[in-house]
Amino acid sequence: MDSESKPFSTHWADITADRIIRERGEKDVYVCASGITPSGTVHIGNFREIISVELVVRALRDRGRTVRFIYSWDDYDVFRKIPENMPQKELLETFLRKPITLVPDVLSDEASYAAHNEKTLEKVLPEVGIEPEYIYQAERYRASKYAEGMKTALDHRDDIRRQLNAHRTTLLADDWYPVSVFCTRCDRDTTRVTGRDGDYGVSYTCDSCGNAETVDLRKTSALKLPWRIDWPMRWSVEGVDFEPAGKDHHSEGGSFDTAELTSREVFGHEPPVSFQYDFVRIKGGSGKLSSSSGEVVSLSDVLRFYQPEVVRYLFAGTRPNSEFAISFDLDVLKIFEDYDKIERNYYNKPENPKKIKKWEKDARIYELSQVGAVPTTLPYQIQIRHLTTLLQIYSGDIDAVVSYLGDVPEADLERFRVRARCAWNWVNDFAPEDFRFSLRTVDDGRVDMADNLAAAVRTLGVLAVDKLGDLPEKEFSNLMYDVMHEHSLESAEFFTAVYQALIGKDKGPRLLNFLHVVGRETVSGLLGLY
Ligand SMILES: [Zn+2]
Repeated sequence: MDSESKPFSTHWADITADRIIRERGEKDVYVCASGITPSGTVHIGNFREIISVELVVRALRDRGRTVRFIYSWDDYDVFRKIPENMPQKELLETFLRKPITLVPDVLSDEASYAAHNEKTLEKVLPEVGIEPEYIYQAERYRASKYAEGMKTALDHRDDIRRQLNAHRTTLLADDWYPVSVFCTRCDRDTTRVTGRDGDYGVSYTCDSCGNAETVDLRKTSALKLPWRIDWPMRWSVEGVDFEPAGKDHHSEGGSFDTAELTSREVFGHEPPVSFQYDFVRIKGGSGKLSSSSGEVVSLSDVLRFYQPEVVRYLFAGTRPNSEFAISFDLDVLKIFEDYDKIERNYYNKPENPKKIKKWEKDARIYELSQVGAVPTTLPYQIQIRHLTTLLQIYSGDIDAVVSYLGDVPEADLERFRVRARCAWNWVNDFAPEDFRFSLRTVDDGRVDMADNLAAAVRTLGVLAVDKLGDLPEKEFSNLMYDVMHEHSLESAEFFTAVYQALIGKDKGPRLLNFLHVVGRETVSGLLGLY
């Protein structure tokens, strides 16, 4: 939907885009930024920032604006602490206080521990349609790309100290410098700046190895700015117009507050438009997620159970400043059903003007949930519950489900397969016990049951041979109840006996539909054992 046909939307991404244009004025390019220190697995809470920016980027592009979407890896940060569950702890310990970009990758064969965390995310983001321009801070700093920014910070040393001290209980001393130094001999940041020459020269000593030297900002890879100063420096270097931040940064006196001051007063850049995003909780996933990364749930983990459009829907459909939960329990089915509903509605615009507002709201969420272009017609839909039944009947064989259905259009096949993989993973990992079943086979033989029950099951088997699939469901249903009455059974005991014969459990999917889906041959084979 373009800006001509839809000048106004109440979606938060559109409201933010309008605010950016209003506050920053008309520009050739709007710069939207996100970033993180790759000191551990980038988890789904961190992903909220990335997708929040991407949704605003889309809203700006939908308004015909050109946008640069940058993602900064703060990989020149120091390796402070070894994350839990890491192998080779003794080796890693020797890299403490060094930049994370120098820490070896003990989990795979990337160039460094930082690169491992970076590549892991970079590989998965395109699956949800997110492809920012990545900026690697270590590379920039080590190539002295920020020499002027660091000099500006040093020139305003007293201003910055005052700005930071306004929010500190332990005040920064008069001999404090707004830079940190990685010793060029031992790579550790266990250093103290001892002076500067007023130009580009900075002197330091290292408490670890005793190294003392003077380096030139334009030539050295040793210096960087601490986070609270690095952030506004980059806003000015990249010309950032929009960057949201988490609750921790947006608190009173938090890094966003001081960065705003430093950006304005030291770097002469009007700080970007921002908003605060809230946490993402995890519901019903305990113990079965992310064995490799402790209790952290990553985007890849979520994508095992939710198709990309539904992941986007979760974030696009929730205001950034409200906390929400990603569920792995039965709610998963409800969320797929909700998504399918807004998808159907999107292609069925109401005539009634009273209903238009609600329709427009959901339509915009649907558009923003798409990975690529919005489909021109309603994509193939399959109810998630029905899909879990089919997958269990066919033991997870997606091709078999596709040929059973026989009507999945070629164009929707990949989307269908992705949904089927998610549904099957969910059945195996998180579906409640009474939801799961597997079809018995004739080779399994009979299940023990009373003679009168076995006789009823046998009669139903004969009926299946004659009629299942030929008669409409309703008519087959009447005949099935006739069998039940003929054998003087209550429906509970009759149904239990049939489920026992088919899946060895007392309960299962809705019986009539289940018999039809399982099909004449298998039903009559299994019931014919009695
Ligand atoms: Zn040293």
